[in-house]
Amino acid sequence: MTDRPRVVLLAFDGFPIGALRAETTPNLVRLGETGCSAPTGGLTALPSTTYPSFASLLTGASQSKTGIRTTSQQFGAVPGWAGDNRVHVKTVVHAAVESGLGAAVVMGDQKLQKVLRLDELEDAWPPAAEVPPGTELDSHGYPTNAAVLPHLLAAAADVDTDLLFVHLNETDTLGHDYGPNAPETLACVRAADAIVGRLLEVLAPDWRRTVVMVVSDHDMTRRLPFPAIDPTASHECAGLVDDWIADGCAAWLRLTPGVDAHMAINRLSALDGVENWRWREPNVLLLLAATGRTFSAPWIPLAGIHGSTSTDTTLAIVGGGHPIVAELAASIAQRPPRLRDWGPTIANLLGIELPDADGIDLLEVAELESAG
Ligand SMILES: [Zn+2]
Repeated sequence: MTDRPRVVLLAFDGFPIGALRAETTPNLVRLGETGCSAPTGGLTALPSTTYPSFASLLTGASQSKTGIRTTSQQFGAVPGWAGDNRVHVKTVVHAAVESGLGAAVVMGDQKLQKVLRLDELEDAWPPAAEVPPGTELDSHGYPTNAAVLPHLLAAAADVDTDLLFVHLNETDTLGHDYGPNAPETLACVRAADAIVGRLLEVLAPDWRRTVVMVVSDHDMTRRLPFPAIDPTASHECAGLVDDWIADGCAAWLRLTPGVDAHMAINRLSALDGVENWRWREPNVLLLLAATGRTFSAPWIPLAGIHGSTSTDTTLAIVGGGHPIVAELAASIAQRPPRLRDWGPTIANLLGIELPDADGIDLLEVAELESAG
């Protein structure tokens, strides 16, 4: 490979994919023209929610390895059977630091930062996942994109940074509060795209060495006026489930020991509003709601929701001036990248190991395609 690139991984939380177009996001579109914007976007695993998606993005590993299977820990601790609160395996950021490379993270979600163990990192904003007093917060208590902006520009200007991971949260908050297509959300998307423009300006002097990847963790869909689904409430499902946890339009369920799994799945998946299911391990079931439907929880977003198959599309854009960008572009043009494919790809670009990754290096995909 030519010179080791500088990699910038920029992630938007809950980016409404329908808003990716020249009128709303001219800078993202322009970036894609230097490489590729995957024609149908990328894919995340289910549930299509923040913590599992980011854990897989940065470790390159599936949920069975990361241990992060739900975002619902915001309502309290995750019951052990439904995963953990902190990622089990190494992130590509940790791997970069251990290899002596310069790595920095700038994040608009301090709770996610802890889930990913990025509070351990020396070069992190907010430092140790503690948002400095006086920082402007959005309605969900996370730093606004405007508050994060100076920190991400400063990190991008540091030429010693080999890997910069940036997370911007506000599109998720606005999408939840107003819906994915609302004027307020689209204004937030426009402002987020303007941040991309500022970032590209700062990266320009070293463009020849730069690879920019833009992703998101999940899409967002409008919540429809139906009651929330409680899989334990119906007479037919009485006694089938001994514990469950909602995660937006998805829910993890643990079946009661001794219950016939076949019968339980039949009844649970026939509930009003349930569209699909996945069987992940003995006695643990992931129920998926129909588009616009959501599961019962202590707090349900007003207007926009995610978690099921209807919101599993992500942004997937590569750009930059490094020669390797052309190969990455060819790869994602041919096959929608999954979130866990980006980690091993970044590791390869930086010449470091990511031992637990089970995603596919996107450069390897490009080679396989051209060989075949
Ligand atoms: Zn969300």
